[in-house]
Amino acid sequence: NPDIDCVIQFAAYKAVGESVAKPIEYYSNNLACTLNILDVMRRHDCHNFVFSSSATVYGDPASVPITEDFPVGATTNPYGATKLAIEGMLKWCDKAYGIHYVALRYFNAAGANTEVGIGEDHHPESHLIPIVLQAALGKRDHVGIFGDDYPTPDGTCIRDYIHVTDLAQAHILALDYLLNGGENNVFNLGNGVGFTVKEVVDVARAVTGDPIPAKMAPRRAGDPAQLIASSEKAIKVLGWKPQYNDLNTIVASAWAWHKSHPHGFEEG
Ligand code: UDP
Repeated sequence: NPDIDCVIQFAAYKAVGESVAKPIEYYSNNLACTLNILDVMRRHDCHNFVFSSSATVYGDPASVPITEDFPVGATTNPYGATKLAIEGMLKWCDKAYGIHYVALRYFNAAGANTEVGIGEDHHPESHLIPIVLQAALGKRDHVGIFGDDYPTPDGTCIRDYIHVTDLAQAHILALDYLLNGGENNVFNLGNGVGFTVKEVVDVARAVTGDPIPAKMAPRRAGDPAQLIASSEKAIKVLGWKPQYNDLNTIVASAWAWHKSHPHGFEEG
């Protein structure tokens, strides 16, 4: 079908801890569904694919910031393994069928965009920032901090949080890149700054004015100690310009959405 130039695939299972307990569900959903899409693209002569990959392909990196040429393949959880397997599949599908691709390796997608009405609402919720804000709204009595014995300054995991609007912008740029004949590529998408779990909770306390009780909890299976992006390549090659590169702004945007959507996307 010549009317469809490109497919952007966002859909997948994406919870690190859950993936460790449910590898079959993760491989089945993430790989099989992507295969189906690629098969349909092949049959209908659609030749451009933008894929939501993940920083977890890098496993537990030896150093940070992480550039795209860091080794992949030692993922610490099945979720990351499915993303890496799909990146491999894309390479072969290009060789055989001429489906060109960009894999965008997201670091920690966060924040909300109240103007277009999007925010984070997972069932069950597993992500840090929405959980912290649910505690601020009184929907949870505390936040569990998963492990304080990691090799980081305060012992909690370090992540690089990137605003959803900046992520969205990168997809548009990736699409333009492919449609202008850009070669297959992978790009990290993060702000290049890492925050510990405790620092995220502190920022949320400042943004919400709520004490947000936090308690230490065991490590969550599959978590690497720290993931911080170098996104220089996306900035240089795609012309990406993240706009919301500070955690206060990111958490404030999420807080605005959570306050206006106390029941998530459900009515009432
Ligand atoms: N985390 C936590 N308590 C929670 C949820 C998450 O301590 O209730 C930690 C988690 O172990 C990780 C970080 O917060 O180190 C970010 O987790 P999230 O699930 O938001 O994103 P991920 O890094 O898994 O993509």
